[in-house]
Amino acid sequence: MAQRPAEACRVCHAAITPFMTFGRMPLANGFLTRDQIPSEYFFELAPACCARCGAFQLIEQPAPDRMFHDRYAFLSSSSRRMQAHFKAFADFVLRWVLPGPADPFVVELGSNDGSLLRHFKEAGCRHLGIEPSTNVAALARTQGLQTISEFFNDDLATRLRSEHGPADAVVAANTMCHIPDIHGVAAGISRLLAMDGVLIFEDPYLGDMVARTSYDQIYDEHVFMFSAASVACAFGQHGFDLIDVMPQATHGGSMRYVLARTGRYAMSPGVATLLETERRCGLHEPLTYDRFRRDCEASRSALRDLLNTLRREGKRVAGYGATSKSTTVINYCGIGPDDIEFIADTTPIKQGTLTPGAHIPVKPHEAFAAAPPDYALLFAWNHAEEIFEKEQAFKARGGRWITFVPDVRII
Ligand SMILES: [Zn+2]
Repeated sequence: MAQRPAEACRVCHAAITPFMTFGRMPLANGFLTRDQIPSEYFFELAPACCARCGAFQLIEQPAPDRMFHDRYAFLSSSSRRMQAHFKAFADFVLRWVLPGPADPFVVELGSNDGSLLRHFKEAGCRHLGIEPSTNVAALARTQGLQTISEFFNDDLATRLRSEHGPADAVVAANTMCHIPDIHGVAAGISRLLAMDGVLIFEDPYLGDMVARTSYDQIYDEHVFMFSAASVACAFGQHGFDLIDVMPQATHGGSMRYVLARTGRYAMSPGVATLLETERRCGLHEPLTYDRFRRDCEASRSALRDLLNTLRREGKRVAGYGATSKSTTVINYCGIGPDDIEFIADTTPIKQGTLTPGAHIPVKPHEAFAAAPPDYALLFAWNHAEEIFEKEQAFKARGGRWITFVPDVRII
């Protein structure tokens, strides 16, 4: 059989080959109306993990302007716990920048609706958000947050440095993993940062995804799933050292990375420990992804079997949370409107639309409360605790939850 042509790693340019495909996939945030169905966009969702540098990445990614535009449907502010997390993240960054030079300048990449950025403004810092999705950037501006709608790269960094001076911190939350041109971004950050400036970012962590079979982290926007090794390799090529790492509970398991120019700060012992853990558990080894692929297939079979059984029994099933992540699960598992009646979601821009690919109706939360289903498939599993607390009435009436991370089960 002919070998699939090798592709090049986006970080180190070694040859890479996908270890599996999730099939033909629509955009994760491509919620649409019935008349848009004929022109719906699809691509092949196939990930690879580079054995040389450890960069877990998508082979094919849709053009950025297909994903981040004037109708971008994800709002950072939608969860109360995420709001608390952003406050804690900002406090951490401020501990780095406030003792430094007077009048610190903080730049956030992918600042969305300003959920993180506003804390820098409130602390009296000069701040600038960079957010290519114009609708969410406009929301940030209405709160008085300095925000520009462009894609960050070396050219923009040059302009920003001449207009504002060097940045004391560049921060990003769930953004870096969205950017395919990692070298363009790293070069831009190097241009923009002050000599003692820090780059601090958080993203879903590869180690957690593999351990929990949370394959729904893999979708068009997440061109990378980072590990400490791949972050160190990517930014090391631009004169940065990874100086600290801190696991976070957000997004079903994330990692905070702190980077600075080589030799400017001492490295925390946690970095070497995490790199060694990644090496010891074979996080970047092909065998790990053979196992991960089998785990994904087993998860899909279990979820399909359960939905088939509930359908035969005439149970009503609805989805809870029309998340970006749900698009991968729904399409990979072949879940359709015959399996789940609708998906309840509190984001106004998604309500009244159909889910990408499978075209399951998205309804406001009121639809869920008014006619609770027998079973609710929890797509927003990373907010489970917050949701269970809010939906005690559903459970009290006999409603049951279905989750699929780390395994398929009924709660
Ligand atoms: Zn590589």
